[in-house]
Amino acid sequence: MSTTRLFDDNMYRFGEPQRSYWEANSTDLPDVGEPLQGDASCEVAVIGGGYTGLSAAYHLAKNHQVDVRVLDAGHIGWGASGRNGGFCSMGGSFFDIEELISRFGVDAARAHYGAQRDAVELVRDLITNENIDARMQGDGELELAHSAGAFAHARRMGKVFREQIGVATEIYSADEVRERYCDSAFQYGGTLQRPTFGLHPLRFAKGLAAATARRGTSLHPHSEVLEWTKDGSHHRLATTSGTLRARIVVYATNGFLPENLHGGFAGVTLPLISAIVVTRPLTDDELAVHHWKTETPVFNTRPLMNYFRLLPDRRFMFGGRGHSTGDPAGSERNFDRLIAAFQRQWPGWRRVSIDYKWHGFICVTRRLTPCIGRLDDDDSVFFGFGYHGNGVNNSNWTGKQIADWIGSGQKDTPDSIPVLMRGLAEPFPLPGLRLRYLQTALTWKRVVDRFS
Ligand SMILES: Cc1cc2nc3c(=O)[nH]c(=O)nc-3n(C[C@H](O)[C@H](O)[C@H](O)COP(=O)(O)OP(=O)(O)OC[C@H]3O[C@@H](n4cnc5c(N)ncnc54)[C@H](O)[C@@H]3O)c2cc1C
Repeated sequence: MSTTRLFDDNMYRFGEPQRSYWEANSTDLPDVGEPLQGDASCEVAVIGGGYTGLSAAYHLAKNHQVDVRVLDAGHIGWGASGRNGGFCSMGGSFFDIEELISRFGVDAARAHYGAQRDAVELVRDLITNENIDARMQGDGELELAHSAGAFAHARRMGKVFREQIGVATEIYSADEVRERYCDSAFQYGGTLQRPTFGLHPLRFAKGLAAATARRGTSLHPHSEVLEWTKDGSHHRLATTSGTLRARIVVYATNGFLPENLHGGFAGVTLPLISAIVVTRPLTDDELAVHHWKTETPVFNTRPLMNYFRLLPDRRFMFGGRGHSTGDPAGSERNFDRLIAAFQRQWPGWRRVSIDYKWHGFICVTRRLTPCIGRLDDDDSVFFGFGYHGNGVNNSNWTGKQIADWIGSGQKDTPDSIPVLMRGLAEPFPLPGLRLRYLQTALTWKRVVDRFS
């Protein structure tokens, strides 16, 4: 059976790491694990060696002494976990805080943000406790308002966060942002949230992989699961070079989820491509042009949102929405659009050359919140995905929730998982048209963005 994919084949070249800044700056850390060879068995098999899968395996082995193996189609951390922007921030849904409260109530919104904060602290603890050289940077996350209207909205949300949700949020005028952080072409004020920070995503993934392997877990890179069958009470996962039998499976492939590996997940995810470019290192004089003086990660409020940060070697990273199908020519056109957006926001850097560009999938669900749970018709299958672009904290936290759930042996969803993340979302209507929905939405957003 082949694994049907939603996007262009270009997005699933598991044997080819992205030519990213992160790959270029983690060659001193060895890849962990060997491909699965022959027949093997374990208690829990994890499909997907990103943060969700690694964190599930790490916590299962460390806290519950469970025999677990991880299979990834690429190298460990090949997916979004090894190529994201490194914002360890809070969110996890496409709702703003007022919408979240009006849909789910203030208690559920508070519980959600309690989990978001715990998730950020979990990443910090993993880095500290396992001595991972993840190159943490900054103190918080700054949201830059790109218009007066956007600042009025951000200020209102900031007050809700502070007064109703208990998230530390500071509100800065345009002058205060210029004084403390930076100055750009679109800047009407900003809000800063804590306790978030930036990191090197692939060094973190590799460090977590090494810590997981130290707990006795076998990690199998270059072991794409091509077939998933059930043999009595056991699952059988077949790769090109071996098979893995397990009583429990954790499905942790997020935006790279193969559509037809397991019918229970058909049409449930909508991957979106996020893309990043990185400049050559900037000089002091160049940084001064835009009053840039922070290592704190920043994003803007544009309809087609951009996220950016200064990296430890003073290169500037700028990210945003990727192409709608990911084919090579369309992706190149999208990188050009992203570079144009970078130059519009930072006109003083428009002649600075770009040294790296790459992309990958984030994952959206129909209900616009993450999905954590076990299948109704097979409770030996656990899953966690759909972090809506905030996966650094959420995926690691989700992996831990799944590990503790399996370790506890309890049937029902643990109370620690907020209501709005529980279980599978409904499949998208007419799932075969998902790319069309996406193309329409992207075209519309581009128009709105141009006039905003
Ligand atoms: C460009 C970009 C920027 C981003 N920036 C941020 C950010 O700054 N902050 C933030 O919080 N989030 C960010 N995200 C999102 C975040 O990276 C993800 O939400 C998170 O890494 C998801 O982790 P995961 O382990 O669930 O999935 P992934 O890390 O995507 O891992 C899934 C793995 O499944 C594997 N796989 C797929 N099919 C199979 C199969 N059949 N057999 C075996 N393995 C398989 C893939 O090889 C892949 O390694 C960004 C994402 C991208 C792409």
